[in-house]
Amino acid sequence: MAKEDYYKLLGVERNASDAEIKKSYRSMAMKFHPDRNKDNPEAAEVKFKQIKEAYEVLSDAQKRSAYDQFGHAGVDGSMGGGGRGGFTAESFSDMFGDVFGDVFGGGGRQRGGPQRGSDIRYNLELTLEEAVGGTESKLRVPVLVACKECDSTGAKKGSSPVICSTCHGHGQVRMQQGFFSVQQTCPTCRGSGKQIKDPCGVCRGEGRVQETKTLSAKIPAGVDTGDRIRLSGEGEAGERGAQAGDLYVQIHVKDHAIFTRDGANLYCEVPISFATASLGDEISVPTLNGRVMLKIPAETQTGKLFRLRGKGVKPVRGGAVGDLICKVNIETPVHLTKEQKALIEQLNASLTGGGKQHSPQEHSWTDGVKSFFDKLTG
Ligand SMILES: [Zn+2]
Ligand SMILES: [Zn+2]
Repeated sequence: MAKEDYYKLLGVERNASDAEIKKSYRSMAMKFHPDRNKDNPEAAEVKFKQIKEAYEVLSDAQKRSAYDQFGHAGVDGSMGGGGRGGFTAESFSDMFGDVFGDVFGGGGRQRGGPQRGSDIRYNLELTLEEAVGGTESKLRVPVLVACKECDSTGAKKGSSPVICSTCHGHGQVRMQQGFFSVQQTCPTCRGSGKQIKDPCGVCRGEGRVQETKTLSAKIPAGVDTGDRIRLSGEGEAGERGAQAGDLYVQIHVKDHAIFTRDGANLYCEVPISFATASLGDEISVPTLNGRVMLKIPAETQTGKLFRLRGKGVKPVRGGAVGDLICKVNIETPVHLTKEQKALIEQLNASLTGGGKQHSPQEHSWTDGVKSFFDKLTG
């Protein structure tokens, strides 16, 4: 079967630059991604395989020049056997992994180029008020930044990197080992194809320097502990002008003196007196936006929950505003005077003396305890 022209496969001119080839490859790889071709995955795999093969040849200066001179015959021997015929799903996903690792900067060293900057994690502590209302935080991040002295080239001001004399700019060298010739990354330029004769004094040729940079990060309203905000390109600068990493701001919300949060809801405990619980009253309770009045009905039991609708948190990913849930705790009076003790005794006598049941839980509780002991002894 006659093979299609590599340039045609990638949809580029014969004099296309490396960047054009890479760009076109990237869009083709996306187009023939198996997830996007669910109606005909087999055809997409075959097409993808051809595109990858074309890219492997055209992105390699030596292979490309061999292909330009001799066509497919010039490069076929150097292509791996994988893919002709027996093309399994497993090898396909392996291959896809390395494509996205390479083209889409999935981390790690890109073949034949300076390394992308690392991603950085920054732990940001917020108060509950800041997390719920949103805030603008100043971040001071110690990080490698692009060297301004040499414009991140790594070469001394006024000079520029020269083509590597070992590999002549290919980034790869061929080593003869007996009958075989083996291609490997150029040891002189570490694959970049360029050499710095006169390194920048500030960054010592690395193209980046350690610095503490100050950033302003907009924290959206509603974030919670565990949320992560990505600031694209604000991580470590890449080696000699390579792509920068990302900065991940990891949110941690500090404990609050009054409120605890669970998703969109806020909880708080409200102490009320025995008298308020018995007779009912209106009390003032805190919310994140000031105080509101809460009606406590007569004969309220301790631990009862009251829901204040819409006084919770508006979630950062959208959805309804949560509620504030107040749990009332009835306080037992302390530091009683003689007179107060007498009054309570009087009240108690009145409550237990009459025929009426004044303690709603006591009866069922006593019965429960009785049957518990009956079972033990019986
Ligand atoms: Zn520099
Ligand atoms: Zn080199």
